[in-house]
This record gives sequence, C-alpha cells and structure tokens, in this order.
Amino acid sequence: MTSTPSIRPVAVVTGGARGIGLAIAKWFLAHDYRVALLDIEAATLKTTETELNAPDRVLALSCDISKPDQVQTAIDLIAAKFGRIDALVNNAGVAVFKPLGETTFEEFRYVMGTNLDGAFLCSQACIPYMKKNGSGSIVNIASISGLRASTLRVAYGTSKAAIIHLTKQQAVELGTIGIRANVVAPGPVDTEMAKLVHSVAIRSDYYDTIPMNRYGTPEEIAEAVGFLCSPAASFINGQCIAVDGGFDASGVGIP
Ligand code: NAD
Repeated sequence: MTSTPSIRPVAVVTGGARGIGLAIAKWFLAHDYRVALLDIEAATLKTTETELNAPDRVLALSCDISKPDQVQTAIDLIAAKFGRIDALVNNAGVAVFKPLGETTFEEFRYVMGTNLDGAFLCSQACIPYMKKNGSGSIVNIASISGLRASTLRVAYGTSKAAIIHLTKQQAVELGTIGIRANVVAPGPVDTEMAKLVHSVAIRSDYYDTIPMNRYGTPEEIAEAVGFLCSPAASFINGQCIAVDGGFDASGVGIP
C-alpha cells in the first residue's frame, strides 16, 4: 500500500529579514513549514536567506508591503513556487515616536502605510490562495501600544489599534470559510526597532513597569504566533494575545 507524502505547509512572514520576523520564520522552519520572507531591506534579506541555509524551503523576496503591485507580484510568486499558502504573519512594521504636535502628516502616513496598509494588502493577496485550501491562518502583529494610548505614539499606537480591529473584521468575514485571524501584541522586545525608538528613559520605565521586569525575546513572540497558526488553536479566531510579561494586565501606563 502506498501512502501519500505529506505536503509541507507554507507560511508567509513579512519583515522576515531580522528581529521578531526572523524568529517567526525560524519557528516555522523548525516545525516543518516552507517559508516565504518578504522584506524591504534587500541586503539584510539576502544575508538572512544565506544564514537560514534551506534553499528548498525558503523563498526570500524583496518587497515594500505598502505598495499594492509589489505585494501582489510577491504573493503570486510564492504561490507559484510552493503551490499553496497556509499562514500569513503580518509582522513588518515601522515606528515613529514623537509628540502629537511634532508628528507630520508624512510621518503618520509612513507608519500607517507600512503597519496597516501593508497588513491589509498582504492579507488581501493571500486570502484567495487560502480559500483554495479551505483553510488558513492570519496572525497580525500589533503591540501593547495598540491596546493603550500613551505619549509619543500617535502614529504607531493608532496603526496598531487599527490592526487589532482589522483582525476582528477578518475573523468575522473569513471564519465561515475556514480562515482564522488573530493578533499577537508584543510588549517591548530587544530588536533594531527598540534600539531606534526606546530612549534610555523609556527602556528604564519598561523595566520598572513590566511585572516580569525585563524585555521579551523575539523567540517568545514567535512561540505565540506559531501556536496561533497550529492545529492546537483551531477554534481561536479574532483574539488578541498580549505577550508582554504581564504589562497589559497590570494596568499601569505605557512609559
Ligand atoms: P525590526 O525593525 O527589527 O524589523 C522590522 C522588519 O520589517 C525589518 O526587517 C524591516 O526591513 C521590515 N520592514 C519595514 N518596513 C517594511 C516595508 N514597507 N515592507 C517590507 N518590510 C518592511 O522590528 P521588530 O522589533 O522585529 O518588529 C516586528 C514587529 O513587531 C513590528 O510590527 C513591530 O511594530 C512589532 N513590535 C515590536 C516591538 C519591539 O519592542 N521590538 C514591540 C511591539 C510590537
């Protein structure tokens, strides 16, 4: 008797060249997925692709997720190479931390264009392929800044609150056809983004206010994302999991 070889599922991870996105890509590889990485930083992406050293299972594509044509081309290429798309992690993001009065329209649009438009565009492009399978999982990466308002985050916090609602819309409209959508909202994690926008004062305040008194690691975020994409989460749809060392539960303000 012959058995049908199992088909490795395919995950698309935006912003997969480094940081949290790279940890998510590694989680998928460790769990027998094939992975497509989309990132705007072509040079970093190339280095990452070489380091992952899995040419049969990794496709790295340079793509600005805020640009509809680039997104459609990249997602179609992924589907053509791997034949299916099972999971999408909308992880790519940018941050501008400035007071409301100093945030320009261009800065606001830059953050919304990447964090929100990018997640919308990548989802829209992947959904038809998930529909073909009759299943799929979208995980959108928000932030505790999308759960609570605070100073300096008019653009960033607004984009992350919006992505949480985008997820609920996706969960309600796509649940009926077997596609689930959920959010992971990280607390502070030591990455290039944190280096850029977490001043010494913000960093010190986070250490004081997070009940576990530390930053998270990219791998800790990746575990939650992987869980939400796995069969273990088959009835979880439209939810937001804060991976934040207890910060949201504590009710204290964001520094
Ligand atoms: P990072 O800056 O290290 O990585 C972000 C990646 O996204 C980079 O590789 C970058 O090139 C890519 N990217 C940016 N704009 C893009 C675009 N237009 N198209 C394609 N790729 C683009 O940041 P990170 O800390 O790993 O952040 C990952 C996600 O986690 C982001 O959505 C971020 O908002 C969120 N997050 C981070 C923290 C934190 O403290 N680091 C906390 C909460 C949420």
